[in-house]
Amino acid sequence: EKLPSQQQVVLLASPGAGHLIPMVELAQRLAADHGFAVTLVTIPGMSNPATEAVVLSSLPSYVLTAVLPAVPLDDLPSDIGFGALVFEFVRRSLPNLRALMEDASRGSVTALVCDFFGTSALPLAAELGVQGYVFLPNSFAMISIMRHLAGLHGDAAAPGEYRYLPDLLPLPAGGLVLHHADLPEGFQDRKDPVYAYHVEEARRYGRANGFLVNSFEELEVVMVETFKRDAEDGAFPPVYPVGPFVRSSSSEEADESGCLEWLDRQPENSVVYLSFGTGGSLSVEQTAELAAGLEMSGHRFLWVVRMPSLDGNPCAYGSMPGDKDDPLAWLPEGFLERTSGRGLAVVAWAPQVRVLSHSATACFVSHCGWNSTLESVAAGVPMVAWPLYAEQKMNAAILTEVTGVALRPAARGNGHGLVTREEIAASVKELMEGEKGSAVRGRTRELREASKRAWSSEGSSRRALGEVAGKLKAALVNGNGSAP
Ligand code: UDP
Repeated sequence: EKLPSQQQVVLLASPGAGHLIPMVELAQRLAADHGFAVTLVTIPGMSNPATEAVVLSSLPSYVLTAVLPAVPLDDLPSDIGFGALVFEFVRRSLPNLRALMEDASRGSVTALVCDFFGTSALPLAAELGVQGYVFLPNSFAMISIMRHLAGLHGDAAAPGEYRYLPDLLPLPAGGLVLHHADLPEGFQDRKDPVYAYHVEEARRYGRANGFLVNSFEELEVVMVETFKRDAEDGAFPPVYPVGPFVRSSSSEEADESGCLEWLDRQPENSVVYLSFGTGGSLSVEQTAELAAGLEMSGHRFLWVVRMPSLDGNPCAYGSMPGDKDDPLAWLPEGFLERTSGRGLAVVAWAPQVRVLSHSATACFVSHCGWNSTLESVAAGVPMVAWPLYAEQKMNAAILTEVTGVALRPAARGNGHGLVTREEIAASVKELMEGEKGSAVRGRTRELREASKRAWSSEGSSRRALGEVAGKLKAALVNGNGSAP
């Protein structure tokens, strides 16, 4: 069904399923609940097209999609790093985005919503006289870090003058102080090429019309309050918690691995689910240690196994599994036989939302990607935090120290970065059986209810998105699209 709508909102998703999945949900809400004509724009060439196709296939027909032409990146230095590459990718796509937004046949555009990697599009929005919003697929904490960065540098500092964020960075998150090692990647080393991108993008934040965050009030209570006050004082644009955007389990793909059938045969609340997201990859040694830890824990498990990382890089976004790759061949000799009946290892992908909402699933050993986090919270499944890269260590710190929905193995500082089998077994057992685990399980149940309330009829996230929709409509009437 096509909604009778004239006001266009263009959503620009940066490459990666983790960015696209919540954007798809936002697109649907804006179209179905608020009557906007929504176009979801993607840029091919940096992400797995098959995964993106699966994600986009859940869109109703009244949300339009558009694909910008691919842009070349082969002139960039090979060591520029994934984050800088994505920022650069979006920057180079701006002329194509401009052409799309100026295409009169599409009708006039009211707002552009970009994501964390797309803030270079904000000046374009301002120039075209449309509202510029940023949708953050991660937590409020991410904006907080960006504000720190902008504050540290002012407008004048050039790359050679960049400074380090403090070793202990206080976040307005209920007393959380972030250790340097837990800062998101790309914020730790001022000489990292992506640092300059972060500084430049952070300087634009104050000029956005507003931010939408895939989070909800009760998940980040103190953060939400702090940003609310800052918006009232005019110190920073308004930041709206509009999540959690979690795919409905019915919109998930078929279960090719057969893991749901397997779960059906397991006792209630008995299975440890393990997955490290769309890019997470463990070393060969760590894979073996994890297998041994699972054996030692004695618990049932469902493990999504990906190809191990041979170069030590825990992020394997770009690398597609080859036809001949068999991740299970990297598991320790005899492991699958010894655990047969109580453990299942599936290759590369599981229908995660359905796994998490299955009654047999008891806990989630997770890389703490923000989508996985929200999915786990929404399903009331407590986590063992096993962060690998990007902003996952910060998420893990929030989840363990502030939110209380995860336990983190003590190993993180052992110098070699290896989580031992003993720690793995102990964390799983604690979460499943222990007293600390019990507190985490209780807190997770509370937050599951809170996450449901956020999108109930008078829920905080529903109201917040309604407020934004109202502002967009008013801006069109008043004819002042761009930020002051
Ligand atoms: N996902 C899935 N099956 C898998 C691995 C991942 O369905 O085997 C989904 C997961 O449910 C989540 C997304 O992929 O929605 C991963 O996003 P997240 O932010 O957790 O991590 P990222 O992949 O961006 O690191």
